[in-house]
Amino acid sequence: MNYTPASLESFAKTILISFGCSEEEANIVADHLVRANLSGHDSHGVGMLPMYGAQVKDGNLIPNQTPEFLSDDGAIQIVDARRGFGHRMSLLALDRALSAAEQHDVAVLGMRNAGHVSRIGTYSEYCAGQGYISIHFVNVWGHAPVVAPYGSSMPGFSTNPISIGMPLQGAARPMLDMATSTVALGKVRVAHNKGEKIPAGWVLDVDGLPTDNPSDIWLHRRGALTAFGLHKGSGLGIFAELLAGAIAGKETVATGNEIPNGVFNNMFSIIINPRAFDDIEPIEARIIEFCESIKSGKPAAGTREVLLPGEPENQHRIDRNRDGIFVDDETMAQLMDIAGQFNSNIDSLKSTLKTSS
Ligand code: NAD
Repeated sequence: MNYTPASLESFAKTILISFGCSEEEANIVADHLVRANLSGHDSHGVGMLPMYGAQVKDGNLIPNQTPEFLSDDGAIQIVDARRGFGHRMSLLALDRALSAAEQHDVAVLGMRNAGHVSRIGTYSEYCAGQGYISIHFVNVWGHAPVVAPYGSSMPGFSTNPISIGMPLQGAARPMLDMATSTVALGKVRVAHNKGEKIPAGWVLDVDGLPTDNPSDIWLHRRGALTAFGLHKGSGLGIFAELLAGAIAGKETVATGNEIPNGVFNNMFSIIINPRAFDDIEPIEARIIEFCESIKSGKPAAGTREVLLPGEPENQHRIDRNRDGIFVDDETMAQLMDIAGQFNSNIDSLKSTLKTSS
């Protein structure tokens, strides 16, 4: 079923309030999740709520948390998110880092111990909206690693995403936002929920052979996701683990700190003021000139248009704002189930959802 973005957002917000989130936190998290759905990343959309609910029940995700700011006003900012909802904790930590960048032209943020921060591109967009370049490395801990380093048949790190955003006329353009695995684990969940097979190359089975079955790794953690781009992507995944886990955070996956329903993030972000290099007008002119030169290239065979990073997400937003956001039946059943566990009135919750015509 396709739902209107506004109704899906208020549905998500109601569920978050039932988890104990304040109105403000529920707004931030629901906005983040629906924006991920709108951007085409259903792996990081409202389908995350059952996991968040289970974590709240276990006491591992804490609504309305107050982060601890561990630095003075230097260029390096360290923030302990104390297992708060990562979406809100990240914005509070970035606000702190952005003020440091205003003072020093550059700031490095280490945010540790956050609940799931979900779609990393959100943070590049947030910094670009305030005129800053930003580069984010994230590691994932709390569960056993799921990605096989290049040359290994065994998982050695997680999907460790990276995002880079360039501020252009108030938006992040271009904007790269990617897991360092071939795909995010959530995409395997989405395929499993839809009963679909996955393309060869996403996952290795327990024998290290390519498989099209999403369920073994999603349900039983058997096998491993592949790192993207062979040895080069694997190297980036390893550095995301080291920067976010060993430096910003206090744990890499090697700590083996496994927690039921545990999916936590540490984030290492570099925030740079482009105006420290040149006036903003010539910088923007060079960005536009370069992007136009890329887009004017002849598309490769089978490709309709050369796209810049971030453009597929923009196109998805246009399409999904018009057509609504598809949520499969299994995901909707999981959402109703977690809402029921928090004593939500399911009939009134259902009535908030409006299907797209
Ligand atoms: P993806 O492969 O869909 O996209 C990766 C990047 O490639 C994006 O910047 C996109 O704009 C660009 N792109 C896609 N198609 C393109 C094309 N045809 N031409 C040019 N550029 C193109 O994304 P992914 O790697 O599957 O990651 C999905 C999401 O998962 C991201 O939002 C990421 O932040 C999130 N994630 C989060 C966590 C976490 O723990 N919080 C972990 C892993 C991933």
